[in-house]
Amino acid sequence: MINWDEYYNFSEYEFTCSHTGECFMNKNFMDKLQTLRTSLGIALFISSGYRHPTHPIEAKKSKSGEHTLGKAVDIACRGETAYNIMKAAPLFGFTRIGFKQKGHGRFIHIGTATEEDGFISPTIWSY
Ligand SMILES: [Zn+2]
Repeated sequence: MINWDEYYNFSEYEFTCSHTGECFMNKNFMDKLQTLRTSLGIALFISSGYRHPTHPIEAKKSKSGEHTLGKAVDIACRGETAYNIMKAAPLFGFTRIGFKQKGHGRFIHIGTATEEDGFISPTIWSY
């Protein structure tokens, strides 16, 4: 179980699955995210956190993504903020990073799922 009091820059509702209302974030992931947030010293807007496997985005994939493990978030950002997240994330243990930095709804995905979880790591991609 997550003790949300440990993550003083974040609230559980920011990470709740928009489809089921559940929230099963991984503690180790949240520790890394709070460390990243503290280092950056800027607000991070979580556009997607935990997703249940039945969430529409996950349900259409052949294999559920790392959001279903509570080991990923999408952070709405662009420009200088996106640059700073990109620069810092690998230093704090985020080994799976995806970028959408074109058009509307720009974000960076950062994740910590491992080969043991069935995910390629480290890796980087664009949307
Ligand atoms: Zn994502």
